[in-house]
Amino acid sequence: MRVVVTGGAGFLGSHLCDAIIARGDSVACVDNLATGRPDNVAHLMGSPGFTFVEADVSSGLDVPGPVDAVAHLASPASPPDYLRLPLETLAVGSHGTENALRLAHRHGARFVLASTSEVYGDPAVHPQSEDYWGNVNPVGPRSVYDEAKRFAEALTRAYRDTHSVNAGIIRIFNTYGPRMSARDGRIVTNFITQALNGDPLTIYGDGSQTRSFCYVDDLIRGIVSMIDCTETGPVNLGNPEEFTVADFAQLVLRLTGSASPVEHLALPVDDPTRRCPVITRASRVLGWQPEIRVEDGVRRTIEWFRSQPEEVRLASAAGSR
Ligand code: NAD
Ligand code: UDP
Repeated sequence: MRVVVTGGAGFLGSHLCDAIIARGDSVACVDNLATGRPDNVAHLMGSPGFTFVEADVSSGLDVPGPVDAVAHLASPASPPDYLRLPLETLAVGSHGTENALRLAHRHGARFVLASTSEVYGDPAVHPQSEDYWGNVNPVGPRSVYDEAKRFAEALTRAYRDTHSVNAGIIRIFNTYGPRMSARDGRIVTNFITQALNGDPLTIYGDGSQTRSFCYVDDLIRGIVSMIDCTETGPVNLGNPEEFTVADFAQLVLRLTGSASPVEHLALPVDDPTRRCPVITRASRVLGWQPEIRVEDGVRRTIEWFRSQPEEVRLASAAGSR
């Protein structure tokens, strides 16, 4: 099959391209490099079955040749990125998603939307299952991302009902691993690069807020299963192993062997207090569950960052939020 991966030069998209090529299928990777990097797919350039198209999916999406599936991952994803690119984030969630849905409709292709746990906002229900409607501040700073993804989910549903597009929605919870941009400002990259540079680990607020961390290989298995079926979703994909931010800092310090201190900075506005997925639906409809323990995944991610010393050094200069 031939899969169009929007956002394919990003962290998750590039791993998805790898998985599809590795099983002998073809990929058309479409990316405007707003937050992604050519380096992430450099090893695929020249592979039979891989094509790279530099384009903004918010302005249109036409991919010559056959299309059997469209995996729509294009969107800034880290809070500093979407706060820096608010209008672009809203555009790719709305126009970009519609362009990707139209492409799937024209080809009678499977469509998978990469939505997010952020549709639950600062959840009043814990842990979060797919039938929870969420608690999003529609005019808060994070709304450019949260509402764009909520609109993208509504649009996906409407294309399924109106045009019979074989469309499904996944809600991805915090995922980490090799190829995260060292300067994306997310917790995993900040803490690892800070620990490796001997800089203070920046805990926002008192560090009692929680997140649940999924290793990238686990997540990609889930996305591929979703591409291969006709499930509509939404389906949560994440690792229910939940950490406070303060405990996660200690884990990174232990696994890096770093003597960095921790420092407390202001908590960003509307930062969700708790987040943990219920994954019974993913287990039932996809036969999916994460296999990589957080400690093992973080160790692998640290090793990867150690292999990128220049990126890690520059991350120090960029600083935290
Ligand atoms: P990323 O920033 O590494 O990748 C996003 C990619 O989309 C980048 O390569 C970027 O250049 C591209 N892009 C952005 N706007 C575009 C546009 N208009 N046209 C074409 N390409 C565009 O982020 P990621 O972590 O790989 O996230 C990928 C997807 O998964 C996003 O949709 C994100 O919302 C979703 N997601 C990720 C996580 C996570 O923890 N990583 C969690 C929830 C949801
Ligand atoms: N965080 C932190 N220090 C950092 C980066 C993030 O304490 O240097 C916290 C942030 O306030 C949030 C959690 O870690 O509570 C996860 O943040 P991230 O930006 O990775 O993603 P989010 O889950 O908020 O989208």
